[in-house]
Amino acid sequence: MDDTTPVAIIGAGPAGLAIAACLRQAGQDFVLLEKEEQAAPAWRRHYERVHLHTTKRYSSLPFVPFPREYPRYVPRDLFASYLDAYAQRFDLRPRFGETVRAISRRGRSWLVDTTTGPLHASNVVIASGNNAEPLMPGFAGADAFRGKRLHSADYLNAMPFAGQSVLIVGMGNTGAEIALDLVEGGARPTISVRGGVHIVPRELLGVPIQMIGMAARLMPQRINDALFPIILDLALGRLGKYGLKRPRQGMLQQIALSSRIPTIDIGTVGKIREGAIKVTPDIAEITEQGTRFVDGKHGAFDAIIFATGFRPGYARLLEPGVQPGGSGVNARASDLGLYLIGFHNPVTGLLREISIEAEQIADDISLRRDRNKAAEILPV
Ligand SMILES: Cc1cc2nc3c(=O)[nH]c(=O)nc-3n(C[C@H](O)[C@H](O)[C@H](O)COP(=O)(O)OP(=O)(O)OC[C@H]3O[C@@H](n4cnc5c(N)ncnc54)[C@H](O)[C@@H]3O)c2cc1C
Repeated sequence: MDDTTPVAIIGAGPAGLAIAACLRQAGQDFVLLEKEEQAAPAWRRHYERVHLHTTKRYSSLPFVPFPREYPRYVPRDLFASYLDAYAQRFDLRPRFGETVRAISRRGRSWLVDTTTGPLHASNVVIASGNNAEPLMPGFAGADAFRGKRLHSADYLNAMPFAGQSVLIVGMGNTGAEIALDLVEGGARPTISVRGGVHIVPRELLGVPIQMIGMAARLMPQRINDALFPIILDLALGRLGKYGLKRPRQGMLQQIALSSRIPTIDIGTVGKIREGAIKVTPDIAEITEQGTRFVDGKHGAFDAIIFATGFRPGYARLLEPGVQPGGSGVNARASDLGLYLIGFHNPVTGLLREISIEAEQIADDISLRRDRNKAAEILPV
């Protein structure tokens, strides 16, 4: 018999769980497909010391705040426990070990091709993650390097690097936090920064930076981009002398144009000031022993960790010519019954946006269902 569902959800990370819970609450059937063997596998694989950078108040999924006893910035393992309890509470029952291979249009519905067989769905919600595939830029000479090379996705803790000199490529949130982890674990980290970086403290005068970002959205970007450098110099000091220059694009402009969120400092800047973490410019070439930087200086390293980001991988699932709209609800998504959730990088935190999008998509799917029912009972 053909497997049929009103809604196929692809991925049981926070976004897939959030949309599934909203549909459950709306009395709407769905199938939740997850290629791995447990919910939110990405969170169980992240490096051990990772905590949410966003506050628990604005990072929980729909209907269920974090438990009162959780700290303001929730650590990885507690977040994973919260997500397990969430899936249980709404009886979400992901179908584990089912990988979606392709999504194609069949008349007015969708054919979802999975590793366990075809699934027909009136609506598809792609929740496969903005950070699905590690991005590994090519550097001249990379294969010549004799030390260990890895992407940040494969970094777990500092133990294997104790006593070693380690280059971290990129100072986004992950690179900055791994450098801190390494220095605390007895390694000698250096961060290579290309083109400058916007850095903000996790809290300004006790107020979480996420909340400041939410408030800042009410002011024009131009004013924010003029004001923030002044405020941040007061909070963090002038960091140019440590090799940490600001990019030409203002902070909010960079988020809008390049989807690059600022680096939230949780102690890395202090270690840079102390000289325990070094900063270098971009890499010109990788050599057998280490790297040559664009300023002509050389560095010898035992290991290089590429904290160079991720990309979403959903485009190759879609048959050619099918273009969903952007993340969330929009006319195109609504028209096709093909939704994306969690595919942007907002200053206000992706988890917060995922919750908002989940509720909007679930409402839109209910509206489509009601419209289609009404069309069926209209006399011809
Ligand atoms: C290190 C790190 C720290 C972060 N910290 C924060 C934070 O503090 N605050 C915040 O708001 N955001 C944060 N984010 C961003 C974001 O909230 C998380 O990445 C979050 O996990 C996104 O949830 P998601 O469900 O969209 O994606 P994911 O968690 O990546 O889940 C996607 C799921 O889809 C599955 N999947 C993928 N392809 C298929 C397929 N073809 N078939 C079936 N299943 C598939 C995957 O196995 C996975 O389980 C962080 C991200 C990272 C990487």
